[in-house]
Amino acid sequence: MSYRSGKKKRGLVTPEDYEPLVGAENVERILSKADNLRGRHVVHVSSTLYGGGVAELLSSLTILMNGAGVRTGWRVIQGRPDFFTITKKFHNALQGGDINLSERKLEIYEEVIEENAIRTHLDQDFVVVHDPQPLPLINHFRKRGPWVWRCHVDLSHPNRLLWGYLSSLIEKYDAAIFSIPEYGQALSTPQLFFMPATDPFNAKNIKMKETDIQDRLDTYNIPKDLPLVVQISRFDSWKDPQGVIDAFQIARKEIDATLVLVGNMASDDPEGQDIYESLLEQRDERIIILSCEDSSLVNALQSHAGVVLQKSLREGFGLTVTEAMWKGRAVIGGNVGGIRYQIENGKNGFLVDTVDETAECIVKLLKNRKLREQLGKAARETVCQKFLMTRLMEQYLDLFQSFYTTYQIKSVGWNG
Ligand code: UDP
Repeated sequence: MSYRSGKKKRGLVTPEDYEPLVGAENVERILSKADNLRGRHVVHVSSTLYGGGVAELLSSLTILMNGAGVRTGWRVIQGRPDFFTITKKFHNALQGGDINLSERKLEIYEEVIEENAIRTHLDQDFVVVHDPQPLPLINHFRKRGPWVWRCHVDLSHPNRLLWGYLSSLIEKYDAAIFSIPEYGQALSTPQLFFMPATDPFNAKNIKMKETDIQDRLDTYNIPKDLPLVVQISRFDSWKDPQGVIDAFQIARKEIDATLVLVGNMASDDPEGQDIYESLLEQRDERIIILSCEDSSLVNALQSHAGVVLQKSLREGFGLTVTEAMWKGRAVIGGNVGGIRYQIENGKNGFLVDTVDETAECIVKLLKNRKLREQLGKAARETVCQKFLMTRLMEQYLDLFQSFYTTYQIKSVGWNG
């Protein structure tokens, strides 16, 4: 069913809603590209319905695509806990960690995906498989159209042994998408680079009333008397929550503030609970650590914070950075991966390499409201120019269309 021609459903975002942000010309162009794909059927496959940036992206992108008349579905694979323990080890190794790549791990990985292949019927015109968890699905289908692998992790230092194994699967795909050019790999499969994007109309990003913000903070007993320093991220060692606490401990010697660390648990990330628990003993009156799933709290904190941190040590892209920048916050981000494509140091935020630098930036920003406002204004403008969902949607539309032009079919090697 296409929603485009019908009456606008309440709450359903369409490309037309973006007109005040990106201009009528851009919206018209995107709609006409979508028209060319009318009747085609797209499906995305990922490993979790909530928690983490991929779920965030897909929940908005799939609605927007349908809103433009391109039938777009989303399937989520199921996995036993041992499967997700293994795939989290893959994730860590792809971001530079070690792994003991035993036969048994590979057997479990492939078996669970084979089971998923049996119960997931993928006969759409375009199949987009996200991240390593569902990657082997391609072994089990006769393609009706192009299959694309979309990788969201920071591939700047992948474990070579694991990459060797995964690349034999990736090369069965018709194209691979990475977030930034630095993640490109030696592959026979054509590679594209799409940065993620944010949805200004979802519950995390819509403008909240001041009273609602205060109410959300009160619900979680977050004190409002001092400026908030906030990091919102899955509890994952690559997000460096310990580095955030250490930086705050240094900064608080010079400024009065409250640190709030919030994280949710993704069903495909079994390490979160242990990391969360390992941090708890460092709580005090001014260090608040919460584990919860609450979009309005995320919005309230990102809107109200004096400073937002994303002190990652590796980061595929970092949608939390985009979300805070969209709200006009000054963000201090780790000088890694996709964060570097969002923050221009000193212009719309700060990039940091160490705990000490992070502490210095916290102090500098909390002491200087004018600087915070100036960086925050530039940050919002950056998101408006580069990181809204319509841009990402257009990149997908162009990719799908390219499979129908003779030249591209040849170059992509699709013989469907
Ligand atoms: N998020 C959330 N609640 C939390 C922590 C994170 O809703 O407690 C959301 C966050 O707003 C963002 C996504 O999860 O939309 C995280 O995406 P990002 O790209 O920053 O990191 P990932 O988890 O994918 O590594």
